[in-house]
Amino acid sequence: MADAKNADFQLNPLIPVDDALGRLLNDVQSYVETEQITLDQALGRVLAEQPVSLVDVPRGDNSSMDGYAVAMASLNKAGPTVLPLSQRIAAGDEPQTLAPMSVARIFTGAEIPAGADAVVMQEKVTVDEQGIHLPADIELQQNIRPKGQDLQMGEQLFAQGKKLQPADLGVLASAGISHVEVFKPLKVAILSTGDELIEPGEEISPGKLYNSNRAMLNALITQMSMQVVDLGKVEDTLEATKAALIQASQSADIIITTGGVSVGDEDHVKSAVDALGKLDLWRIKLKPGKPLAYGKVKGELKDIPIFGLPGNPASALITFCLFARPYMFKLQGGEVTKPLKFKAIAGFDHVKSGTREEYMRGVYEEGTAMRFTNQSSGMLSTASRANGLIVVPVDATFKAGDWIDFIPFSELLK
Ligand code: AMP
Ligand code: MG
Repeated sequence: MADAKNADFQLNPLIPVDDALGRLLNDVQSYVETEQITLDQALGRVLAEQPVSLVDVPRGDNSSMDGYAVAMASLNKAGPTVLPLSQRIAAGDEPQTLAPMSVARIFTGAEIPAGADAVVMQEKVTVDEQGIHLPADIELQQNIRPKGQDLQMGEQLFAQGKKLQPADLGVLASAGISHVEVFKPLKVAILSTGDELIEPGEEISPGKLYNSNRAMLNALITQMSMQVVDLGKVEDTLEATKAALIQASQSADIIITTGGVSVGDEDHVKSAVDALGKLDLWRIKLKPGKPLAYGKVKGELKDIPIFGLPGNPASALITFCLFARPYMFKLQGGEVTKPLKFKAIAGFDHVKSGTREEYMRGVYEEGTAMRFTNQSSGMLSTASRANGLIVVPVDATFKAGDWIDFIPFSELLK
């Protein structure tokens, strides 16, 4: 049995990382339930509408300085001008039309009175019993923030599918919007396979190791503002794996498993999913994380997609970030964008990678990227000490000082 699976798997061609992602994203059948929420609940949520500004921002011309509002027409062309004060306008006041041949005291953020077309900052003015002494060098519209310079009434603020970040919530608020229509959080079932796994807090014994993938996946999914359905650990038997997958398909929109997708006798995820739907083992040109399992489990109402991530924690993390994360985001109605990647100077030599694209855990500091010497896929501590991944193309050779690509974790873990 294991040999037959092994033969199938070996026959599958190696798929480049970008192609694999493209194929996965094409296969997403979007999930469209939505809900209305208030802005204070909206951080990290994905827009299911295209909100438009309810107002001009700013609503009227306003002053960017504490000073004096004046009409250019009342200024002396040849030199300084002295004018009387006619009103005082603080932020929040409704101004009167500026009386001819006068100035208005005005403060930052206050609306410019009709008739005024420049603001002179208070430091450039002297005040005595004759009035307000204005300098000669005043320019039209100086120190005035024009109406609508930030946003215009009716302007579309964001596209559907945008994940809302803190500044976006500020923009929505400034546009007068109190509620937004967003997609409901995806329910993501996670389960760890492996008889060797025990949970932190339990006593360790020979042959066992603590389950790190569960805590990590829980956090990765929570950070995406999705809902975790934690099904814990599954015994390495076909029956237990099937039972867990049935439970997962009844309680979640997508299933993520770790481990058990190699082709050994103790790997039951493939057979279990095949019994309930279909699972393909993909060989990806990726290091770490060559085996990736993707398929569907037949649910009562819909097919439930499933990712079988590798058991090795660093591979699980990287395959989650590269494949499961964008897939889940699209499934929930999000518009997938590529993570920002920037150029860094390699702080090390690298001899030919071979046939797989390599994602090395590394540290970027002041323009230079260093990698951890030990890139074992079983080592998770380097992923937590790293601040991103160095992307090494297939067959690449480079020397310290050459340019390489770096993706900060902040781009992948949000
Ligand atoms: P597997 O893919 O099941 O063959 O697992 C590959 C390796 O990853 C083995 O050394 C497992 O012990 C380890 N592993 C699998 N699942 C976990 C987990 N949840 N936490 C930590 N290590 C794991
Ligand atoms: Mg296993």
